[in-house]
Amino acid sequence: MKEVLLIKNGEIALKGLNRATFEDVLIKNIKNALRGLGIIEVKKAQSTIYVSPTSDDYDMNEAVKRIKKVFGIAAFSRAAVCKKDMETVLKTTVEYLKDILPFKKTFKVEAKRADKKFPLKSPEICRETGAKILENFHNLKVDVHNPEVTVTVEIRDFNAYVHIDQINGAGGMPVGTGGKAAILISGGIDSPVAAYMLAKRGVNLTAVHFASPPYTSERAEKKVKDLLSQVAAYAGPINFCYIPFTKIQESIARECPEDLTTLIMRRYMMKISQVIAKNNNCDALITGESIGQVASQTMKAIACTDCAVDMPVFRPLIGMDKEEIVKISRKIGTFELSTLPYEDCCTVFTPKHPKTKPNIKDVEKAEVFENCDEMVKEAIENARYEKIFYKEL
Ligand code: ATP
Ligand code: MG
Repeated sequence: MKEVLLIKNGEIALKGLNRATFEDVLIKNIKNALRGLGIIEVKKAQSTIYVSPTSDDYDMNEAVKRIKKVFGIAAFSRAAVCKKDMETVLKTTVEYLKDILPFKKTFKVEAKRADKKFPLKSPEICRETGAKILENFHNLKVDVHNPEVTVTVEIRDFNAYVHIDQINGAGGMPVGTGGKAAILISGGIDSPVAAYMLAKRGVNLTAVHFASPPYTSERAEKKVKDLLSQVAAYAGPINFCYIPFTKIQESIARECPEDLTTLIMRRYMMKISQVIAKNNNCDALITGESIGQVASQTMKAIACTDCAVDMPVFRPLIGMDKEEIVKISRKIGTFELSTLPYEDCCTVFTPKHPKTKPNIKDVEKAEVFENCDEMVKEAIENARYEKIFYKEL
């Protein structure tokens, strides 16, 4: 039996004249998400996007799993498609739902009749389909108020479609419609969640990661890339940028006041990230900071970090508790990876008593060390790029 996905776009339905552009981006993202599963046809009509596999052995379960993570989709249905006459619709309904309906107790039928020339009106379609279902599945009763399953018959321009309850989409906006930003990504719990949250608003991501070998290992870098490969299920392919940070960190540890080292390190990360962002046409930075989580994230510390750059810095987790962040990281499949024990450059060089109320004048004075400008330039020149795609781990 031929199946298709009927995709309803979410908020993008509201975008007036831009709507066509938004839909085109969404279609591109849908095609990207389904890459490797086989050939599909995608077309749009009447605020629905139709995804039709061209072969019978297409893995629809995997397609559904992936489509659930594409932003810009409010809801979608996995439907059987058939010819537009009532006899075929009834036959298709029984055949298509034969593995589901025997396990339900109550149902109702809904009809959507987009083709106003179809000979039967919606109530008649419902009545005939309901009768056919009752005739074939003796376990079922009709319950129009609180049915266990709703069978929907849609009569559209070229075909009829039969499906049961809609599947919730990921919501948000299609990635690519919200501009570009650079996320500072560590191997922790927070930054992958922050990346996910901006991707949800349609933002295309470049991910900047600072590593300090030999203090940090290749395993730690792989961990970050694995994290991004999970975020990529939602965000699409991510532009990963690796920055060698050892020399700067050693100089900070050696030459700067100990109680300001984390903050100073963070300011260097921000300054370098801003250059990387601009080189990649990004208009903002993103971090996983949350007020009060650690000493470097008190309001005064964040203010010191913020003024290291002159582009907007988005901190989507700013008002969230760790528990709330963990909940999202579990949902998006990054939690287990994030809690692997590999070292991050921040954890290698942590001061015992960091200042929680730093003064920006002191910090600006304290952060100057020998050859600091050259080292920043060198780190940027040695940036290494890689494209990270979604992969199942
Ligand atoms: P995470 O926020 O990654 O879960 P964390 O809470 O321990 O871990 P902090 O060390 O407090 O993070 O860092 C705060 C933010 O600074 C991170 O959310 C991230 O955006 C950025 N950051 C930290 N370490 C790195 C790194 N090695 N490379 C790039 N960005 C980093
Ligand atoms: Mg954090």
